[in-house]
Amino acid sequence: MLVPRPFAGALDYLPPASAGPGELAAGRIVRVPLGRGESFGCIWDDAGEVAQTLPPDLTPDRQEEENKGRKITLRRMAELRLDIPLLPPSLRRFIDWVAAYTLTPPGMVLAMAIRAPLQASARTQLGWLRAEPLPEDLRLTPQRRAVLEAASVQHPMTTAMLTERAGVGAGVVRGLAASGALKQAVLHPEESGLFPAPQPDFAPPVLSAQQQDAADVLTSALKEPAADTAKPAPVILLEGVTGSGKTEVYFEAVAEALRQGRQVLVLLPEIALTTQWRERFARRFGAEAAVWHSELGARRRRDVWCGVAEGQVRVVVGPRSALFLPFSNLGLVVVDEEHESAYKQEEGVTYHGRDMAVVRGRQVGAPVILASATPSMETRANAEHGRYGHVVLPARHGGARLPETALVDMRRDGPERGEFLSPVLSAAVDRALEAGEQAMLFLNRRGYAPLTLCRACGHRFECPNCSAWMVEHRKRGVLACHHCDHVEPVPTQCPGCGAEHALVPIGPGIERIREEAEKRFPQARLLCMASDTLDSPAAMAEAVHKVASGEVNLVIGTQMVAKGWDFPDLTLVGVVDADLGLGGGDLRAAERTMQLLHQVGGRAGRGTRPGRVLLQSYAGEHPVMQALLKNDFNGFMAQEAALRQPGFWPPFGRLAAVIVSAPQERVAEEQARLLAASAPRGPGVQVLGPAPAPLALLRGRWRQRLLLRTRRGIALQPLLRQWLGARWSGTYGLGVQGGGEGGLKIEVDVDPVSF
Ligand code: ADP
Ligand code: ZN
Repeated sequence: MLVPRPFAGALDYLPPASAGPGELAAGRIVRVPLGRGESFGCIWDDAGEVAQTLPPDLTPDRQEEENKGRKITLRRMAELRLDIPLLPPSLRRFIDWVAAYTLTPPGMVLAMAIRAPLQASARTQLGWLRAEPLPEDLRLTPQRRAVLEAASVQHPMTTAMLTERAGVGAGVVRGLAASGALKQAVLHPEESGLFPAPQPDFAPPVLSAQQQDAADVLTSALKEPAADTAKPAPVILLEGVTGSGKTEVYFEAVAEALRQGRQVLVLLPEIALTTQWRERFARRFGAEAAVWHSELGARRRRDVWCGVAEGQVRVVVGPRSALFLPFSNLGLVVVDEEHESAYKQEEGVTYHGRDMAVVRGRQVGAPVILASATPSMETRANAEHGRYGHVVLPARHGGARLPETALVDMRRDGPERGEFLSPVLSAAVDRALEAGEQAMLFLNRRGYAPLTLCRACGHRFECPNCSAWMVEHRKRGVLACHHCDHVEPVPTQCPGCGAEHALVPIGPGIERIREEAEKRFPQARLLCMASDTLDSPAAMAEAVHKVASGEVNLVIGTQMVAKGWDFPDLTLVGVVDADLGLGGGDLRAAERTMQLLHQVGGRAGRGTRPGRVLLQSYAGEHPVMQALLKNDFNGFMAQEAALRQPGFWPPFGRLAAVIVSAPQERVAEEQARLLAASAPRGPGVQVLGPAPAPLALLRGRWRQRLLLRTRRGIALQPLLRQWLGARWSGTYGLGVQGGGEGGLKIEVDVDPVSF
């Protein structure tokens, strides 16, 4: 029995007092007593094995010692949740794999996977049947008649289904129920019409020759006999410039998987991006894909989860967490925008969604498609070495040209003091708007100003819990930390010297760009897009609609606007600060900045009119700017690779970060030094640090970082287990556990995105 606690492995229980045949099966979700309370768990091995649950406060290691001299009493499972489908073996294998790879207790990975079916109440949805015969004294109105015509004598329908079909309010349904004309009945999932089936041949596109060739490669990967188990299912990089039609092309692979009766998982980096994707999917396949994300209602999440397990859900689209859905018949996995660092989960179980998608596909023999205009260094290397297949779409669809990119040298042609839009960029925006086109100003920073300074004494506002400046959000009237929840009102007086009205904002956030744009382009119809203002999929959908319909013509946004959008009338993209993101010591910064800027530039000129990208930069000679100007990413990535190769940095070696943190700086430093002293050594194995982590103080904890680096052929996990386990076992867990001596916490991040 695996329980959602940070134990090293599964626990053993006696079966419940009564269980029918087949009910006590691996994958069954069960309620069990645990410590002094209760928990849910999942039967992990063949049922019937015997041991016992842990007393509270004991870690598995100490438990074993105590058991040696003591008679063991077993506890019984309390309840088998027969209303929840079994976790298929493939998901259990995947959970075990992710746990082992990320050094997370498997129960914590399980917890992510089974939250959805447990959160909603029992899975019986109630609906209405038409009474037969109808009550004699029933008063009939046209509205009531419409409901009774929509209702069925045999198949229950929900209130929502009835009101929608009859075009009436819920009150009419309630009235009919009260007068006995509608009877309550349990709705079966297949009758609820929750998951209409996508049709593979509903509206196939006319593909260009280039697209067709690419689609053929993908579909033939699906057609290869799955029986050939000696050969793993292929992973294919679908590389295509922005606007080349990657989505249309991988839709053909989706269609093929549907024809074969298999399930499909499509991952997108952020759920906000699903709006346009969903519309396109529905146009192509005649029905929506099932959307999966954390903001769905509890009941919908449960229904999708169960629908996936039972096979009614054919296509799921969602962020990385969708990998942990209980697919029983998975035939294809697509990772769109595979280079996105949003695929990395940084809290709790630290896993990389793209890499785990490859594992998930391989474990069930399903091909995996990785799509991007700017593939990550990792995926590129895999394709170059023949580990992954590689399909390239070199041109935009329909003859649209890639946008022309130009640099605005801010040292020479910069804006007036206190402003952030250069004359060149402003003039370009004017021209685009006058021509009836749309323009976008991109700055990857929320709020008004990233730093607030006292003109009199130089005082800077810093977060008390983090090593970060407080960011002014003028609309909300606060200074906010972007790393923790700390928020304070903007003071009128400097807390350092008491000077009145001496505080000045330094540098721009998008609120400030908006202010400048409102002055500079009074005729423009403006829209700001940032994660704090568009905080729900519905708000996002509305914003996208406003842009697509032409209701707004000047978009100002953070990285939200960079991704995947298809706005045909958008012809100009202005990058307010192209150098942002290049600072800091992170070896991956250049790669990430290039990918982001190329993505955002890729929004320009996707329709019939040519697009233009203007990069405002103080560092025009930087390889990132040069690569963007020349559209030469292969060259840039080759240069980057040459920087990483000699030191065996990823992808040429393996890397794990070990973060040692404590509320007191001294404790963190001391413990990190102790840890470093026992670090593994040997040929091809190296430990770097300790050094202050990139955010040396985060949420009140001082953080020291050690990096364990190995050659490609040497696995990190056994080294990490031995290293950290020897010193900390019995006192500290790995990964998610904390609360040791002096609040000490050790976290492991295998394959960190920053290094
Ligand atoms: P990418 O994902 O490569 O940036 P998209 O798949 O978003 O590109 O395609 C860009 C635009 O071109 C979209 O509006 C899409 O509908 C259109 N498009 C691509 N291929 C075709 C096609 N074969 N027929 C019609 N429209 C297409
Ligand atoms: Zn903070």
